[in-house]
Amino acid sequence: MIINHGVRGSIPTPSHKMLGYGGNTPCVEVKTSDYQLIFDCGSGFSKVDFDNDLQTIVFISHFHHDHIQGLAFNDYKSASDKKIILTSAHSDKKTTFSNLFNYYKLPYFPVSFLDIINKFEFYEFDQVVDNFKDLNINSIDLNHPGNSKGYSIISDQKKFCYLLDNEFQNNQKSKVIKFCNYSDTVIWDGMYLDSELKDKRGWGHSSVEQGIDIANNIEVKNFLISHHSPLREDTDIETLKKNISTNKVKFASENEVIEF
Ligand SMILES: [Zn+2]
Ligand SMILES: [Zn+2]
Repeated sequence: MIINHGVRGSIPTPSHKMLGYGGNTPCVEVKTSDYQLIFDCGSGFSKVDFDNDLQTIVFISHFHHDHIQGLAFNDYKSASDKKIILTSAHSDKKTTFSNLFNYYKLPYFPVSFLDIINKFEFYEFDQVVDNFKDLNINSIDLNHPGNSKGYSIISDQKKFCYLLDNEFQNNQKSKVIKFCNYSDTVIWDGMYLDSELKDKRGWGHSSVEQGIDIANNIEVKNFLISHHSPLREDTDIETLKKNISTNKVKFASENEVIEF
């Protein structure tokens, strides 16, 4: 089961014109027989209910604020006495800890970070890959200011790929196709349209059309365009949807549950 807790890029958008697709920043939950896997901790992370029967692992793609701003806003009541593993292929565990520590401190944040993260155990990414071999975890370098990492996992014979945030370049194409091929679900950074990209070079995001092209070059059941621009209203997405000829490409919608 996949739940999109947050599908908006850059900043939460609690506008009535955007709540159809959702206003929370990125967080995706993938639940399999043995695992609860969380990708990024944008504001959508505040809604995650922890499952005490499963091993929970949180993967951080990178440390831009829209991917970590929800970490302090889950009340963790559902986590009871469980330990949650937190890791990132972006940085070693010491740097991951200090990046988060420096974000959640005065003068930007009032509460001690140590109180927030007492539910977490920080792991090196390689350690997670080794300890949970049954998940077949892989990562991919993405093109983003300060770098971002994409992830793929295979669980219950299903493959899931998460590629936020990435400014797609043609020299990435074969690598991205290989990484995403034969997936059940791919989450794609479709922040912009091709027509908007020319003014956004170097901002670190791909277009909806680039996503459609990748989807057409791979075997995939659900190719979800996510990280919607904070300027993209529901009616804009509805219009884009009508122009897509392939039914495997969809626009990610907050709280939507996808079978996995
Ligand atoms: Zn982002
Ligand atoms: Zn980013």
